[in-house]
Amino acid sequence: METMQKYYISTSIAYINAEPHIGFLLELVSADILARYHQQLGEEVFFLTGTDEHGAKVAQAAEKAGQETQKYADQVSEKFRELTKEYNIGISEFIRTTDPKHIEYVQNAWKKLAEKKVLEKRSYTGHYCTGCEAFKTEREIVDGKCTIHETPVEKIVEENWFLVISPEVKAKIKEWLPAVYPAHKQNEILNILDEYDSISVSRPKETLKWGIEVPNDPDQVMYVWVDALLNYVTGILVAGKKIEDVWQNQTQIIGKDILKFHAIIWPALLIALDLPLPKQLLVHGFVNVEGKKMSKSLGNVITPTQLRERYGVDATRYLLFRQLNFYDDSSFSWSEFDAIYNGELANGIGNLTARLIGLLNRLPNGQEKVVQYLKSLDSEPIKNISPLKQVDYSATLQQVNELLKEGDGWISDQKPWTWTEEDWSKYDVASFKPLTKLFEASVLLHPFIPNTVESIRDQLHSLKSDPLFPRLTK
Ligand SMILES: [Zn+2]
Repeated sequence: METMQKYYISTSIAYINAEPHIGFLLELVSADILARYHQQLGEEVFFLTGTDEHGAKVAQAAEKAGQETQKYADQVSEKFRELTKEYNIGISEFIRTTDPKHIEYVQNAWKKLAEKKVLEKRSYTGHYCTGCEAFKTEREIVDGKCTIHETPVEKIVEENWFLVISPEVKAKIKEWLPAVYPAHKQNEILNILDEYDSISVSRPKETLKWGIEVPNDPDQVMYVWVDALLNYVTGILVAGKKIEDVWQNQTQIIGKDILKFHAIIWPALLIALDLPLPKQLLVHGFVNVEGKKMSKSLGNVITPTQLRERYGVDATRYLLFRQLNFYDDSSFSWSEFDAIYNGELANGIGNLTARLIGLLNRLPNGQEKVVQYLKSLDSEPIKNISPLKQVDYSATLQQVNELLKEGDGWISDQKPWTWTEEDWSKYDVASFKPLTKLFEASVLLHPFIPNTVESIRDQLHSLKSDPLFPRLTK
């Protein structure tokens, strides 16, 4: 028997110092689309997401909320788990870095790093950004401020453990860099790789209480990134699977702000732990709102629930990949979401489906013929030419819209509403082009809007129409 091709996809784990926003939703849906696409191809998919729960920022947020840290973590983590349900995200496991299995593995991994002599304890002077939970290099600081957070960095002198990044490891990272997509992100790493001969991987307990203790050095706590990155391994264990059974054909999706961690620290850790490097590292941009950076203080944070309430789950999943540029920074806009919703969902696919069903009802024995015809169609060639194979979301939706336009155009040209009963009785359903085009579009759309595609299928089978995307009225 042929063994099933495997596919392992993960998002970054969400840092729980704040509640879920549109940026993380985008990442979750992007991974879900690829997971569903690979399921369509008949592969065995493991899909991991979760929450990153250690670090000073979480402890501070808990304190601010007047809560015990673990309780606070439980509560916020649950909101992210709820988000996966709210948006029909088909995850295999939800990893939390406070899970005892995670902590146990991370401490064992540390011991292995120590045995391999890639860890060194040194006194260190650096500039720390609490927002990033990271020491910043000179080029990442402008006027004493972190270039990402625009908040002052803190000068710190302390004893830390360091992960040594040897020239051999750097050579391996360079060799692996083509796995990073989009390709221009590879240069970002090439430009800074030489600055990293070692990376601080622990902090004194008095500065970082909320984290995993360093084995055999109880005064030190692991730097949150080492702990967090290993979730991609421990999530497999928490799911009750073997690492080697899942760790194949791996795609990781991350935001551009954490590229450095995933393209330098992460491969360095994996090399030391004798695990293969990911096949693909996809890097997405930031979502701004109406041209401005999304922030609590500006009061312009868009929540996933706001989107669901206005557009519904599937429409939101579609709009995120139609209005925003996944691999680039982009600006969310309510008016553009509304316009695309009405133009492409209510009027486009929704209207075409309804019109088509109205027309096909005039075909003698229409229902039977349609069901038989749909059964005869082969979805394999369409799946195989989907641009999702090249992780191109936007080209896939472009293709969908072209197919729907062809279907609409055919109806406008042929004017089947003018046909007589006799015309209909001579008509072969296979020549009814919009039906074929809608079928093809549905195959491409399935990973994006699975429930709607099911509904289209049901409506075509019964020839009873029910609005897929009711028009927005306000
Ligand atoms: Zn920062």
